[in-house]
Amino acid sequence: MRDIEHTCYACARTLPLAQFSVSDLRNHKRGDPLLCINCAVLPQSDLALMVLETTTRNLRARYETIAGRKIAKREARQAQYATVGKRCLDCHAHKPVADYDNNARNPDGLQHSCRACKKLYKVTRGEGGLVLWHTVRQAMRDQNDKPA
Ligand SMILES: [Zn+2]
Ligand SMILES: [Zn+2]
Repeated sequence: MRDIEHTCYACARTLPLAQFSVSDLRNHKRGDPLLCINCAVLPQSDLALMVLETTTRNLRARYETIAGRKIAKREARQAQYATVGKRCLDCHAHKPVADYDNNARNPDGLQHSCRACKKLYKVTRGEGGLVLWHTVRQAMRDQNDKPA
């Protein structure tokens, strides 16, 4: 049978069971982090530095996968928009990317509503308030949601 391996939380090496003290392994079962026998004898200050380094590296790796997934998602959306356009949240029309302003906070990097709707919103809001805007928006939606 192969030795079960464990990862030291300081040096981040995955080592066979024999590289850990018995009491540490026992505590680990109760949820304590595991320290290999090499790291266990290090001075506290060295140990703290090592743990900090490992934690930072782990966090960075995690962040990189999150950021990578975000970029991949954005690229997939952009590819989709290139063929069918992006559906405007207000008028429900499918429009090319060029018809939307950028918004870095949105997953696809664009505003939810097309530029024409933004403009129309401002005008109708000024003329007849939200009620007028909602009426106009509904009319556009009815038009654009109609099956071709
Ligand atoms: Zn270690
Ligand atoms: Zn629109």
